[in-house]
Amino acid sequence: MTTASFPSRRVLIAGGAGFLGSHLTDRLVARGYQVVIADNLSTGRLENIAHHLVAGRVTFIHHDVTDPLTLEVDDIYNLACPASPPHYQADPLQTALTSSLGAMHLLALAKKTGARLFHASTSEIYGDPEVHPQPESYWGNVNPIGPRSCYDEGKRFAETLLMDARRQHGVDVRMVRIFNTYGPRMRPDDGRVITNFITQAMAGDDLTIYGKGEQTRSFCYVDDLIDGFLRLMDLEQGPDTPVNLGNPGEFTVRELAERVIGMVKSGSRIVEHPLPKDDPRRRCPDITLARTLLGWEPKIALAEGLLRTLQALQKTETVVPAFEPERRVA
Ligand code: NAD
Ligand code: UDP
Repeated sequence: MTTASFPSRRVLIAGGAGFLGSHLTDRLVARGYQVVIADNLSTGRLENIAHHLVAGRVTFIHHDVTDPLTLEVDDIYNLACPASPPHYQADPLQTALTSSLGAMHLLALAKKTGARLFHASTSEIYGDPEVHPQPESYWGNVNPIGPRSCYDEGKRFAETLLMDARRQHGVDVRMVRIFNTYGPRMRPDDGRVITNFITQAMAGDDLTIYGKGEQTRSFCYVDDLIDGFLRLMDLEQGPDTPVNLGNPGEFTVRELAERVIGMVKSGSRIVEHPLPKDDPRRRCPDITLARTLLGWEPKIALAEGLLRTLQALQKTETVVPAFEPERRVA
């Protein structure tokens, strides 16, 4: 956590009770910022931010971003959207609306207040990429009508909307394309590969690789990612392009499974399950822009990040304080 002193800012974090949002909250509270979290708690959990709620350092609003929101703020972070494929595919219409209409409502708030608008986009906008690694200039290869489209196309539309708002109305928009990020506070039932493998290995169950496990991903530890968020928001002026943030180390899913079994010292076996439709075959960020623009580089190696995630998942006791969030009717 940073100890430097920052002039106070009023910050709204949409999706702040989720995995990434709660880590961002920690960092902004440590700067002395006034943080308001708006979240519908669909995948987020109050226990992720309980330490701030108890200390009275964060205000929580139970709110769905598909409804408009009015608030006086200096900065807006839009992280509201389920990120795990099984979660975002469970209610695809809601996902499509959250990522599109939600972005539109937060844009309206940014226009009204003059706030900086940070938007969490995704490597999924590259779809099943035909260019490797993926630079920001690559337009992607996305199925517009498949099971992942509610997320991919919703996020692509949000990028279009925000870039147009920047050009047409001069809104101060800053966007990151996040590549697979993991760490403490991911839900054990999150459904993404790292939490699935660790929880399976902890239980001595089979590790479920989808397909042959030859597909690749690049895994970024959460602290590194949030550092990139802050560097982008601290720039005097945002760039006129989204910025890739991710760890360029690339692993097959089978390699990941073997590493997790080795780390947990589990007797688990690896079993193959059917590959989900449209599952991207390779994914790895080109982070040249983040390096030059932000001086940003991931620091936490996969082995260290996996260990920290394992230790967090092993802590079974979670304390949720008696806390009744303010309910806002839109
Ligand atoms: P998460 O599911 O833990 O967090 C999402 C948060 O948004 C949750 O607190 C959830 O309750 C809230 N939310 C969902 N729909 C909402 C709605 N309609 N209104 C209000 N709140 C809503 O996921 P995460 O991994 O923390 O992802 C955060 C953001 O980062 C998302 O926008 C996601 O698309 C993006 N992202 C994450 C990753 C990653 O690897 N973690 C990768 C790419 C993009
Ligand atoms: N995956 C897997 N076993 C699991 C969960 C996921 O083999 O239990 C694979 C999935 O098919 C994909 C990769 O791991 O190829 C990453 O999946 P995840 O859901 O974490 O994120 P994605 O990058 O697909 O959004």
